[in-house]
Amino acid sequence: MNILVINCGSSSLKFQVIDTDTEQLLAKGLCERIGLDGSFTYQNKKDGGDKKTVQTPIPDHREAIRLVLDALTDAQSGIISSLDEIGAVGHRVVHGGEKFTQSVVIDDSVIEAIRECAELAPLHNPANLTGIAACRALMPHTPMVAVFDTAFHQTMPEEAYIYAIPYRYYNEYKIRRYGFHGTSHSFVSKEAARFLGQPYESLKTIVCHLGNGASVSAVKYGKCIDTSMGMTPLDGLIMGTRSGSIDPAIMEFISHKEYMTVEGIMRILNKESGVWGLSNGLSSDFRDLETAYESENENAVRALNAFCYSVAKFIGSYTAALNGVDAICFTAGIGENSSFVRAKVCSYLGYLGIAIDETQNSKRGEDTVISTPESRVKVLVIPTNEELAIARETYALCR
Ligand code: AMP
Repeated sequence: MNILVINCGSSSLKFQVIDTDTEQLLAKGLCERIGLDGSFTYQNKKDGGDKKTVQTPIPDHREAIRLVLDALTDAQSGIISSLDEIGAVGHRVVHGGEKFTQSVVIDDSVIEAIRECAELAPLHNPANLTGIAACRALMPHTPMVAVFDTAFHQTMPEEAYIYAIPYRYYNEYKIRRYGFHGTSHSFVSKEAARFLGQPYESLKTIVCHLGNGASVSAVKYGKCIDTSMGMTPLDGLIMGTRSGSIDPAIMEFISHKEYMTVEGIMRILNKESGVWGLSNGLSSDFRDLETAYESENENAVRALNAFCYSVAKFIGSYTAALNGVDAICFTAGIGENSSFVRAKVCSYLGYLGIAIDETQNSKRGEDTVISTPESRVKVLVIPTNEELAIARETYALCR
């Protein structure tokens, strides 16, 4: 079945078409600057077409979806002759609150429930809903599925998700740890079990999703038992520009020192912190930081040391939560590409009997075991593929 996968942000829309029978990527692209001047990128992967970008006004998300559907059915560069060849649409939705513990077929009540979760993700859920509404308007008879970033983490036990603030805040406002990147953590932990040839339900796995946003999760026998992002994606690891966990009293301290509002401090913690803030604004991109680290730039050294230490600390605490670990997986932009970060994180893990094979660690782009055969815990690089995971989930509900 051909599945159209949509990842809709407030001013951008990414899409892929995947044939779930062969798991082949047929087409992909991106609408950017929706509501502004607009730009549309499209690539026919089925016939190996070139990536093409055109500047064109995209006033709203409905127009963006219309561009996507026109491109997919275009006589020259399209991949299908009619929209009937799209069997279903899978939508990435950021926050499913406690309502959604798995993917669901979208109907009016689901849309209402996603809207109710918008309070928890005010930047993301409304944009996701806009994408859903635009697709439903243009493809009214095609089934649609919502796949939630938070759903995989809903198996966390109470002791892992509850914050030690007055309990009524959980009861009244549902303030708790939700976690994000769930589609990736689920995909990678399953893929690791498949790659190792072991039953998913028999493995204790730690997944390190290290991208511009970064999170770690502990997956025990196929279920998430803890994850580092919290009620929002600001919690947990040091990230590109996000602080990760800090002493909450720092907010009050800065607000007094610099006469700042809560909104101003939140902007600093979200946009001006992380390795960017630690490196004094040198870069949030690990390629730049690693280059600077090689020439012993003190800003880069500080940022990368603190980042790798924060990952290693989470691995240690999740090893305790899991009561042992069989496999540690690295994924996403940094996890898949930075042999430097992987080696540095693993240098803290000798107590687990972990040893890294340097040749294996220098490979890129494929599922790889980077630990030595003697290593007591397997360390893996597993490229994530959230779109494929969404396509699989969508197919499972619509076949
Ligand atoms: P993501 O959010 O998963 O797309 O990851 C994006 C981040 O991955 C970038 O900001 C870079 O910091 C990092 N990255 C991408 N390629 C490399 C590379 N070759 N080496 C180190 N880091 C990389």
